Amino acid sequence: MRRFLPAAASCPADRTLARRLDAALARPAAQQPHWPDPARARTVLRRLDRADPIVVPEETAVLSARLASVARGEAFLLQGGDCAETFADTTEPHLRANLRTLNEMAEVLAGAAGLPVVKVARMAGQWAKPRSRVLDPHGLPVYRGDIVNSAQATTAARTPDPDRMLRAHAHAARAMDIVRAAAPGGDVHVSHELLLLDYERSVLWVDTGCPEPRLSSGLAHFLWIGERTRRLDGAHLAFAELLSNPVGVKIGPGVTPELAVEYVRRLDPHGTPGRLTLVSRMGHDRVRDVLPPIVEKVNASGHEVIWQCDPMHGNTRTSRNGYKTRHFDQVADEIAGFFEVHRRLGTHPGGLHVEVTGEDVTECLGGTPALTEADLPARYRTACDPRLNAAQSLQLAHLVADLLRG
Ligand code: PEP
Ligand code: MN
Repeated sequence: MRRFLPAAASCPADRTLARRLDAALARPAAQQPHWPDPARARTVLRRLDRADPIVVPEETAVLSARLASVARGEAFLLQGGDCAETFADTTEPHLRANLRTLNEMAEVLAGAAGLPVVKVARMAGQWAKPRSRVLDPHGLPVYRGDIVNSAQATTAARTPDPDRMLRAHAHAARAMDIVRAAAPGGDVHVSHELLLLDYERSVLWVDTGCPEPRLSSGLAHFLWIGERTRRLDGAHLAFAELLSNPVGVKIGPGVTPELAVEYVRRLDPHGTPGRLTLVSRMGHDRVRDVLPPIVEKVNASGHEVIWQCDPMHGNTRTSRNGYKTRHFDQVADEIAGFFEVHRRLGTHPGGLHVEVTGEDVTECLGGTPALTEADLPARYRTACDPRLNAAQSLQLAHLVADLLRG
């Protein structure tokens, strides 16, 4: 495969892709920063285009094949890691601890399911965050992830800085080296949210192995579109259509069965099993009502998607002492509801998407022994959403194991 350099596109296939990429990126895009110095941003983009790859298409093809087996009900997908990676946490202890937790969870699940578990880390690129508000409670521009600005509470720190994209790329390369060293010859794939388009449009290959030429991202094996950027006429969806990587879409409780089928048609035009993962994040109190008609309609379309449960993002709340948190029992209940729905409809509850860390943080409530609201301040360290700690993650894996044996 050859690298895609839009500015130097010479053959017709590359010129067509360059035109389609421009058209995709010209569509409305939510959640993008306004770089204060557009000239500097353009310089950064030119450098990123030729930057080293984090992953290579051959590895992505291996993941695609494994995800096809998940879609067919012959494997289970476990995806997890930090809500937001930070530059400060591109360290061997942190990344190894997160990988260890993912591995331990996978072992528990594989034993129970009697199926291989495909592991995908939220790692080596999970820098950009969508936000519900533009300003924080102090009236400062919100933190949008280390790839855009700094979490520090000053106007200067919160001003978007395009040079951070180069730092993010360098940190992703370091993180990926650590991942590869931690799993020699192994099988951990990496993923992040397809959010910051100025970053995602870089480090691409031309993939001619598809029914029509596509672009293979060199920034992650798997990319997903978030709940806040999945509009049908938007740039994120149009960009994902151009990729040959397997992709996901988060679907919240507002998604209708018709809309879900539209995502499937757009992102899986050739009926490739596992090309698309629908990541439901409905909330524990909604999943049993909202998910069934979606599963039925998508199933009737004949496309073989992966059904993955994100039990975190529909169950976020603020504790009385002011921390963004989630309760272990509600997380577990959303997964139970997800399994109930798929068991009833005869579809494969194919995977789990979780925010977890191998560290002993105090960010989510509950578990055994139960963390209480008073415990939250002790080691509340996340840069964005609350993660299950190592013990809670393993407890959750055992509960899911019971459901898989179910
Ligand atoms: C996330 O996965 O961190 C996230 C922001 O999820 P969602 O788009 O589902 O809210
Ligand atoms: Mn999150």
